Amino acid sequence: MHYFISPALKDSGGVYLSAGIHGDEPAATEGLYQWAELHRSVLRELPVMVFPCLNPWGLIHNRRTDSENRDLNRCYNLDSIPRIQAQKEVLRARRFRLAICLHEDYDAQGAYLYEIRNKLTTFGQELLAAAGFYVPIDPRAKIEGRRADQGWIARKVNLKKFPVIAEAIYLAANHSDRTITTETPSEYDLSARVQAHIAMIQRAVELSFV
Ligand SMILES: [Zn+2]
Repeated sequence: MHYFISPALKDSGGVYLSAGIHGDEPAATEGLYQWAELHRSVLRELPVMVFPCLNPWGLIHNRRTDSENRDLNRCYNLDSIPRIQAQKEVLRARRFRLAICLHEDYDAQGAYLYEIRNKLTTFGQELLAAAGFYVPIDPRAKIEGRRADQGWIARKVNLKKFPVIAEAIYLAANHSDRTITTETPSEYDLSARVQAHIAMIQRAVELSFV
């Protein structure tokens, strides 16, 4: 498992960025790499932890799952998957002000995102505004069965109702004050989707440290 920890990252207060847990969502990984590349000269001073590709086998084979046909984003409740155990181990005792998990969706009609924020103000619309320079915003009133407002889906984590099986829920339950899952429409032009991800990461990092 590859990850990057900035020397500026403390035990709490930083930003967690991850992509590629689903291998068939290449703009997420590419966007995160390109964002890091663009900020190479200042990355040491930004308190970030970056997991650029949580499922490399899937990315190489253009598959959602890992080599054993598991959707890793449905496995955070398990203790039996070395890759996820290793990640849990490096996250232990860390607390982030923001965690972003980057994804794509082939059903999407534009960019959208989920935000779990407890009592904090929302970031979601700002991130979507940044993405909107490159891809449309998903206009549907309901996305994946949830009520959406111009691409923004507010989520609450009810741990009694939701088993902690997804990365974002695991982070929200254990490590992050605010958790965002971004989605770009994977049927759109790849370079526009990459740009949309870069713009959302950039805006989120800016908003986190103002
Ligand atoms: Zn995904």
